[in-house]
Amino acid sequence: VAGAARPALLLFDIDGTLLIGAHAVHRDCVHAALREVHGLADPGAAPVVAAGRTDGEIARAIALQQGVSARRIDERAADVREFACREYARRCPGDLSAHVALGVPELLDGLAARDGVRLALLTGNFEPVARLKLERAGIGHFFEPRQGAFGSDHEDRTRLPAIARARAGDGGAPFPREHTIVIGDTPNDIACARADGVRVAAVATGPFTTEELAGADAVAVDAAELTAILEARLG
Ligand SMILES: [Mg+2]
Repeated sequence: VAGAARPALLLFDIDGTLLIGAHAVHRDCVHAALREVHGLADPGAAPVVAAGRTDGEIARAIALQQGVSARRIDERAADVREFACREYARRCPGDLSAHVALGVPELLDGLAARDGVRLALLTGNFEPVARLKLERAGIGHFFEPRQGAFGSDHEDRTRLPAIARARAGDGGAPFPREHTIVIGDTPNDIACARADGVRVAAVATGPFTTEELAGADAVAVDAAELTAILEARLG
């Protein structure tokens, strides 16, 4: 029986989910900001896991490892963010379309055509970096402006789903948890969804295997399988 379209808020991660291998220039810009703001000689030498973490969290981890005090990191966090975003605007390749994950344009086309389905971003990228990256990849238009949540909203990814639901809310009430789905490629994507009590679909197109992502409500090997999972969920 066909019913009315169920509303849904789909919150997409970028790196490892929508785009593959488009993070190198972005990482270099965060490093450039750490050199500029904190005077670090070689930020890239710090062994830091970046996948699934926010830009601010990554910058903090590197700075702490290289001897910057927590207080100074707090005081200069906005400067690091601003420098990294300016640098990314300068260095971002003109065409990132080759980095779009296989099947992602079809997935987004299909979802965008559904009544009541809203597509937004939930990423650790600073917002200006995220928006420019997707624009240059040719898929920025799928995601509503002034929606979603970004590394520039909070350093702690577990806070981001609630921020995205607040932005998508109606008349002061946040978008309901039961109709919100986080989509990402790392255990941190799963953890942030759990922290806010929303559903999560994982896709193993990033650095983690389906086994490592088994804590999600559903795990796909690629965008085609993710399409089937989301379509089944949306009815
Ligand atoms: Mg990711």
